[in-house]
Amino acid sequence: MPSEEAEAHDFIRDIINEDLRTNKYGGRVHTRFPPEPNGYLHIGHAKSICLNFGIAEDYKGKCNLRFDDTNPAKEEEEYVRSIIEDVRWLGFDWEDRLFFASDYFDQMYDYAVELVKRGKAYVDDSTADEISRTRGTLTSPGQKSPYRDRSIEENLDVFTRMRAGEFGDGEKVLRAKIDMSHPNMNMRDPIVYRILHASHHNTGEKWCIYPMYDWAHGLEDSIENITHSICTLEFENHRPLYDWFLDQIEVYHPQQIEFARLNITYTVMSKRMLKQLVDEGHVNGWDDPRLPTISGMRRRGYSPAAIRNFCKRIGVAKVNSMVDFEFLEYCIREDLNKTAPRFMGVLQPLKVVIENYPDDKVEEMEAVNNPEDPSAGTRKVPFSRELCIEEEDFMEEPPKKFYRLAPGREVRFRYAYFVKCKEAIKQNGKVVELRCTVDPDTRGGNAPDGRKVKSTLHWVSARHAMDAEVRLYDKLFTEKDPAGHKDADFKDFINPNSLEVLTSCKIEPAVKNLKPLDRIQFERLGYFCVDPDSNSEKLIFNRTVGLRDTWAKIQKQQQQKTT
Ligand code: ATP
Ligand code: MG
Repeated sequence: MPSEEAEAHDFIRDIINEDLRTNKYGGRVHTRFPPEPNGYLHIGHAKSICLNFGIAEDYKGKCNLRFDDTNPAKEEEEYVRSIIEDVRWLGFDWEDRLFFASDYFDQMYDYAVELVKRGKAYVDDSTADEISRTRGTLTSPGQKSPYRDRSIEENLDVFTRMRAGEFGDGEKVLRAKIDMSHPNMNMRDPIVYRILHASHHNTGEKWCIYPMYDWAHGLEDSIENITHSICTLEFENHRPLYDWFLDQIEVYHPQQIEFARLNITYTVMSKRMLKQLVDEGHVNGWDDPRLPTISGMRRRGYSPAAIRNFCKRIGVAKVNSMVDFEFLEYCIREDLNKTAPRFMGVLQPLKVVIENYPDDKVEEMEAVNNPEDPSAGTRKVPFSRELCIEEEDFMEEPPKKFYRLAPGREVRFRYAYFVKCKEAIKQNGKVVELRCTVDPDTRGGNAPDGRKVKSTLHWVSARHAMDAEVRLYDKLFTEKDPAGHKDADFKDFINPNSLEVLTSCKIEPAVKNLKPLDRIQFERLGYFCVDPDSNSEKLIFNRTVGLRDTWAKIQKQQQQKTT
């Protein structure tokens, strides 16, 4: 199980401690979070954000927000806007250090010219196909391009003309001149610049050549004076190239450090796949509460503090692994338990008539807003002759362990009275109304004669209740690792029942003061969040997470397995 200590002792902080000890960067710690604006951020990014901004906070250093927008075709303003919103919502501050990689295009080009001048890069006229065919394999060396030995003068001339727009897409590339038989395939004369006549969201039509990721990324880090360039494991075998580029042009050289990506069960964690789910209408937009996107989690009712705490507790590792979705829910529940005000709401109402309660009487019952937080105070909940309870809290013929309401049985109505069921009224075989009585001596929930009841139910006053729609979410996939099957598409595992919409819910009137995205608990039901689609006519709640601790159950099972 991930522990709080894992975070304090992670290997990245160990590296930083050592660098501080040896004064490698003059005592500076400067990280960055570098999203590519080609989709909305997901909880994997949250891990990276918490790590980079968290390190900056811990060491009183700095962390930049940098858009890695070197690829013109895929980037959109909408993504830039959403990423800014999400990082800020998570609680982090880049101060005045919001950067765009595309702002460095001139500088990157100048550095490429420098690389050519040093005889370390050449223009290759080979086709993409030829280049990939001559790269060799893991077990066989690649072949040198026939253009590899062009003179520096010729390379400079052709590269300048590439930039000027003389050639079409794919006609030429600039390649680093490293080693075509290098055991690391990334070092076999990788492409530095490609021709792409495409408009860019920031630089418009200014460029028709664009830098490749490996070339651009280290330069971005260098230009921004980053000390520790933290990225995910798949870049481990790109590190030699990161180092090679910076060494060749002899510029300031940050340290790249790789850590394991976050994966969570029953979901997918790639912008490409998430985009597919959105574009093909499997979900309702990037902020669909079923998605692991930060905007989806916000709409579902996850709090920034809970997400940060989750990221802290899963720790930072060098080996890829999968975190149980239930552990995320555990962290969410733990936070909401402390912070969410309680209300009563009935999802599937069953009418209850209190026969011995006058029709014109209304009592204001005092209810506790949050038993975990006395400062949250109390509120009044109206009680009257006609109430609603949860359909499933009544059974005409209760089986053995069903302690809730049944004919002849007495239970407690929370914050109110003991209520006894006299009779169930049916229509077409279905129970549509319960006739009940209260014991007036039990107001507040205890009987003076000391008699006990076995359950306490939530309820609302029918006349005072507000109508609401409640959206219940389940896992979006039926498979633990939907993207991990070679012979199946991840979409084959979409859960057809991941969304259930209840449209005739009844909620106590105090919810009228709630604002969009407020996080609450409906007693006995779970945690919920006010959906931004709500308006004064129609309240909509999203269920964030149930009350039951499914994580504890999983842990118990795991413990049983190992003992
Ligand atoms: P995706 O595969 O979802 O598109 P990406 O790595 O291409 O992710 P970027 O925008 O390039 O997305 O990522 C920005 C930063 O977030 C990078 O430093 C990347 O390593 C990190 N990151 C992305 N996904 C995860 C993850 N699942 N866990 C931890 N960090 C991640
Ligand atoms: Mg990427």
